[in-house]
Amino acid sequence: MFVLEKIAQYAKDENRKAVIYHDKVMTYAELEQFSNAFADFLLKNGKDKSPVVIYGHKEEEFLPCMYGALKAGRAYVPVDITFPADRLEMVLSDVSPEFFVTLRDTDVAVCEGTKRLNVNEIDEIFKSYKGGAIDSANWVKPEDNCYILFTSGSTGRPKGVPINRANIENLASQLIPWCDIEASTDIITNQISFSFDVSVVSVYMGVSLGKTLYTIDKTMMETPASLYEGLENSNLSFWVSTPSFAELCAMSEHFNEKMLPNLKRFLFCGETLTHKLVDLLHERFPNADIVNTYGPTEATVLVTASLITREMAEDQKPIPIGEPLPEVEFRIVDSEGKPVKEGETGELQIISDNVGHGYYGRPDLTQKAFFETESRGVKKRGYRTGDACYQCGKLYYFCGRMDFQIKLNGYRIELEDIENNMVKVENVSRAVVIPVMKEEKVDYLAAFVLSTKEIDGPKLREITRIKSELAKLVPNYMVPRRIVLCSSLPTNTNGKVDRKELAKQL
Ligand code: AMP
Repeated sequence: MFVLEKIAQYAKDENRKAVIYHDKVMTYAELEQFSNAFADFLLKNGKDKSPVVIYGHKEEEFLPCMYGALKAGRAYVPVDITFPADRLEMVLSDVSPEFFVTLRDTDVAVCEGTKRLNVNEIDEIFKSYKGGAIDSANWVKPEDNCYILFTSGSTGRPKGVPINRANIENLASQLIPWCDIEASTDIITNQISFSFDVSVVSVYMGVSLGKTLYTIDKTMMETPASLYEGLENSNLSFWVSTPSFAELCAMSEHFNEKMLPNLKRFLFCGETLTHKLVDLLHERFPNADIVNTYGPTEATVLVTASLITREMAEDQKPIPIGEPLPEVEFRIVDSEGKPVKEGETGELQIISDNVGHGYYGRPDLTQKAFFETESRGVKKRGYRTGDACYQCGKLYYFCGRMDFQIKLNGYRIELEDIENNMVKVENVSRAVVIPVMKEEKVDYLAAFVLSTKEIDGPKLREITRIKSELAKLVPNYMVPRRIVLCSSLPTNTNGKVDRKELAKQL
């Protein structure tokens, strides 16, 4: 597999830096050694080929465990610390892993047969298993899954999206040219949590090009001073993130070319790129270009890429999501599945070998979203994105979702996921979550809540209680910022809750 071969190749240069994590450096030689050690451990102690679940957030051990799993012919399931215990338990019960790596403490219950490996045990494995290079015959095969990412699911249970080696290799052949830029230093951001697919750009493309991954973790992001100090020291040349993260950085006027003099490219993915951000970056980084990409986890990270020109920035239309990658076909269809005319809005379907094989253990959901079709005379997989889009010339434009899925600060959220978890909170009989928009994007979430009984005591106390109970069931970013307690909900002529009416009340 290309990325594993490249790590071994770069490891020959003793000093080549693979990852910078706070003030520590891991070289490619160490990355090779630690991933070999973990693979050796898995091969010697494992009984099956079940995926390895890795819980944590950007720790130095995370990447060697991921590549080690691949070398031992297993997929990995990265679970970020934003997942509360309840969700982590759901992932564990869906995957039934033989090995569960906990780089952060968690007292979550595990299934019978699952062995926990904490960070000290992982460090010990890195030291004591020194088997040398792992025979590539053990590595994941093209049809084997490399990772499974769990995204928000409308039923209130996250759904797993497995992506296999062939999917990633197919993406790499089309995406690497966009990442292979000339720069005096080759340092790429390592900011996106590994449980979010955009991190694949750094983990697979960045590493296979021998770049240094510069880690920006949650602790750095929590204090602006340490974030800016980190950026100042980074010497980044290639920026990969959601637009939201760049917006956060841009809150300081010092986020400019002086702070990052070697920056050559911003590559964005995951949510709407606004005119405002494009204008700001063009002004503050006149020597860096901006690439917008688009794609769902189900179609292996991204399926478009386009350089955002000054002309596009000045255009009245939204910033385009770009042109499909060479091997990708787009179809925009109406509600009956028939192609619409150019310029008309419809649902975007992606037809490509980048499209995965469905949801993990969920044939019912797979059947609804995935299909088989012919493209340019060849049998291909297709995916119904649920994204409303239109085409203008070679470019495609995103105009929002056709369902209740939204993006908030880059996080993919099904509003029904929050609603279904809110009703598990004591005294909540019904909840309706409404995204509040600002400048083309979701600004925050508000929830209208019906109680099962009269609230005694102050409303604020009740709201605080609902929020803290909900935070035990869903990640923090899914807890609505505003909660409105109400005694009834408006309905439309179909008898359904009138979400538009509720949105007007905010
Ligand atoms: P995820 O699976 O988390 O990558 O989320 C995929 C969804 O994010 C897509 O179906 C879109 O709704 C949205 N999305 C991804 N990239 C973009 C983009 N460049 N512009 C607008 N929305 C995007």
